[in-house]
Amino acid sequence: MSAAWQFYVITLAVYFGINLIAGWSLHLQYGVTGIQNFAFIIFQSIGAYVAGVTTIGSNARAFGETIIFGANFPWPVSLLLAGIAGAVLAAFVGTFALRPMSKDFQAIVMIMVSVIATSIVESQGGLFNGSQGIAGVPKPFGGFLGLGIVQYGWFFVGLTSVFCALTFFVIHRITSSPYGRTLRAIRENPTSAASLAVPVRKETMIVFIVGGAIAAVSGALLVEFIGAWSPSAWGIYETFLFLVALTIGGIGNSAGATLGIAVVLTGILDGVNYLPTFGTGTLSAALQLMGVGVLIVVCLWFRPQGILPERRRIIGASSESLIASESDSAAHRWGSKVSPAAVRPSTAEETFDSEPRKSEISPISGVIRPRPNEGLPIREALILNGVTKRFDGLQAIDDVTLTVREGTAVGLIGPNGAGKSTLINLIAGLEHPDSGSIVYGGHDISRLAPHRIASLGLVRTFQLSSEFQRLTVIENLLVASRTQRGNTMGQALLGKRRWRTEESENIERARALLHRFELSRLTDDYAGELSGGQKRLLEIARALMANPHCLVLDEPLAGVAPGLREEVEGHLVALRDEGMTLLMCEHDLGTVERCTDTVVVMDLGHVLAVGTMNEIRQNEEVIDAYLVS
Ligand code: ADP
Ligand code: MG
Repeated sequence: MSAAWQFYVITLAVYFGINLIAGWSLHLQYGVTGIQNFAFIIFQSIGAYVAGVTTIGSNARAFGETIIFGANFPWPVSLLLAGIAGAVLAAFVGTFALRPMSKDFQAIVMIMVSVIATSIVESQGGLFNGSQGIAGVPKPFGGFLGLGIVQYGWFFVGLTSVFCALTFFVIHRITSSPYGRTLRAIRENPTSAASLAVPVRKETMIVFIVGGAIAAVSGALLVEFIGAWSPSAWGIYETFLFLVALTIGGIGNSAGATLGIAVVLTGILDGVNYLPTFGTGTLSAALQLMGVGVLIVVCLWFRPQGILPERRRIIGASSESLIASESDSAAHRWGSKVSPAAVRPSTAEETFDSEPRKSEISPISGVIRPRPNEGLPIREALILNGVTKRFDGLQAIDDVTLTVREGTAVGLIGPNGAGKSTLINLIAGLEHPDSGSIVYGGHDISRLAPHRIASLGLVRTFQLSSEFQRLTVIENLLVASRTQRGNTMGQALLGKRRWRTEESENIERARALLHRFELSRLTDDYAGELSGGQKRLLEIARALMANPHCLVLDEPLAGVAPGLREEVEGHLVALRDEGMTLLMCEHDLGTVERCTDTVVVMDLGHVLAVGTMNEIRQNEEVIDAYLVS
């Protein structure tokens, strides 16, 4: 092979390796975690600039460049500094751009950040030599090894491969761990993840920082290979090329990311750009763009999930539960085949460590049916005192005071727009009250974030289906299990031995819950493909997987087909009879009567009446406001 062709192969190999490192970091952020990192290229760029100005030394003067710094650090130091710079930049951008609950916001802010960063670098000549960019960055061990240009090229291919292998190791450990599953849950539905005690913002930030550092290292390697870096060649357009590569390859799949980068970035773009005889004419550039454009349209049309879609992770139902579920009869449908311990293994003492509180305000009095925990001291699980919430001109919640005692089931009814969902959002921390207090298990939770409240044992479900669609049914449950060491990035990186025991315990518990809710046959189905009723059951099972002491259900029968209503209701009654503390908002008064002990009627944001369903039915005010209308 001639030197020119050898160098062509070397260039492609190095570019491919570096694009893989960069692309995998974006795959982790965007494909796995759902971070809309449209500023991706600035992280690669900062790595390049930092590696450049910390190694360029006297070359800068020789090239007539003005730069902020001009050191001559030995090679691994510059790479390390580049990684740190990427991490610091990510931490900074993350503080204002990462709002996991609002992906549109994320995307727009990231685009702005990217554009602003490029124009700062271009206009501030003293930083990185303005729009000219930097050149003359020395090659690692360049003079030291004394190799010819082609041999040195092969050396660089080896160097890049080492970093590729390291990056793949990190990405693989993360994506194949429980932590990776949590990240995918954040991508699917950050609000639901937070309601299951996942610290969404923190985990998103960690992924953003780690990804930023990896992208920066890729930039450092690249600048050391090509020796130059200019802002115009590394703008928002390059970010889109990476996103296109991931989309075509397969979002969320490491193999897909690899394939996409090979096809789009290396095959169509670099493969043509660096052809020794062809050069980079404007025609070829235009043809390339058209090629990429056609590819993405074809791909979105025929394979919207990409060429290699994210693979489904099969865990499997236990064989007994499958056999049992087939022979299940309605008679022992919610019977005791699964011990209640499988559902509620923790004891009340874990969260309710404070002394039982005396009731200060208790509009619900003398109306509680005998329950399994009769004889235990009466304790308030949840106390709302004078809670108000305004949205613009609307008083959504108006001085609401109510108590839910431990082990009781309270129904929340009222016409549409009465404020039921808002009240549940306030309790669960999705909104915070303007005034008043919400105390749960002795903790003031009025200002706590949703994941903190969930970790105290108060778990809610949503009025609209909120399953993690592209996680399987059993994975949906496993996300909720917080007794899993492998749920942090550190432990995930340390490997399977750290977390596999807990994983198999959790899988058994999840299987038991699926069995109880008769979902065993759907164990490995994508949750997004279930029927409305099955989704509701899944959501309740998932909430139970989090070991709640108090379950708050927002219209658990919404969207359930008539044939399944009875089944869902049966499960709710069973939960109540087991002594689960329940607060449940529901339209169907019959259901509310069967599932709860006490009913709170709301209208226009305030509590109209409290009592048993029989008492409520005779209450004039309620009849006027609600039942008749
Ligand atoms: P319900 O669940 O009882 O049907 P909601 O709690 O959903 O009622 O809504 C109560 C009132 O608050 C409605 O008038 C609704 O439009 C309003 N509302 C709820 N959430 C918001 C919000 N985020 N911003 C503005 N208004 C809201
Ligand atoms: Mg509602």
